[in-house]
Amino acid sequence: MARILLTNSEATPGVGKAAEMLAAGAGGLDAIEAGIRLVEADTSIRTVGRGGWANLLGEVELDAAMIDGNSFRSGAVGAVKGFLHPISIARAVLERLPHELLVGEGAARFATEIGAETTNNLIEDSERVWREWFEQKVPAADQEKWPDVPLAELCRQAIDPEKGMDTTVFLSLDSSEEIMAGVSTSGWAWKYPGRLGDSPIIGAGCYADSRHGAAACTGAGEMAIRAGSSRAIVLYMKMGLSLEAAMDEAIDDLRQLRGGLLQRITLHAIDRAGRHRVVALNAEKQLTYWLWREGDEAPHAEPAEIISL
Ligand code: ASP
Repeated sequence: MARILLTNSEATPGVGKAAEMLAAGAGGLDAIEAGIRLVEADTSIRTVGRGGWANLLGEVELDAAMIDGNSFRSGAVGAVKGFLHPISIARAVLERLPHELLVGEGAARFATEIGAETTNNLIEDSERVWREWFEQKVPAADQEKWPDVPLAELCRQAIDPEKGMDTTVFLSLDSSEEIMAGVSTSGWAWKYPGRLGDSPIIGAGCYADSRHGAAACTGAGEMAIRAGSSRAIVLYMKMGLSLEAAMDEAIDDLRQLRGGLLQRITLHAIDRAGRHRVVALNAEKQLTYWLWREGDEAPHAEPAEIISL
């Protein structure tokens, strides 16, 4: 069975390292964690880790998750502040706790307990852009009372998906024929504090089953949560559909959503035979992804399919 690594374009700083590790026989979780750590630390990637956009209060809250497609053990963290590598905290949840998801203060407490590296994730440019938004969009009376003001209306007005939303997603089939997935994100620019997207919700933002395949989503996490998109793709494969048809079914599920936030969402999947597919729904521009297959010298970029919902 041929090894494979599928990531999205945000993975650029880490995809090469993850592919090298898989080529050398590393397990999927190790390769994915190493690759995502490089993305999280790279401040030119504005939607993952350090350098990510802030929430409405000007704070960077990070989400990450991993899933082991053999044991179905997962580890996820949500709304974590002040740590450089949420993916490694998620991995530690998977390996050291009888839980699958930690959020906020509890996640920070656990991160401290395991000695996770701390950092200020709000880089100067993100702070400047947040401050400009604050000065231009927040009414003067609210600026005076800040942060003790209602945020719901600001949240509704501030959604600007193509400016500040993305995630890095990694899916792998390794030399032991095991299928793994990992994701990391800062979510949406100007999100309501405490908002979790799909990334830390196993089955929404990512899912893996070594018997069938893996899937992960980027874009409007609210949609992937509502349709359970990553789990749905893998489950449709389990029910006997091809990768292609399984994704078509998951797309059909997304088409049934009514109301709420309906924006761009991109679905990524691999199967046990080493096939892959990446479909961007409602994308306004061409998106690419990275693919590495056993025997390739390095990952190469390919264009995603674009479909309207
Ligand atoms: N899916 C992520 C979230 O909703 C953001 C993104 O990938 O654009 O948090």
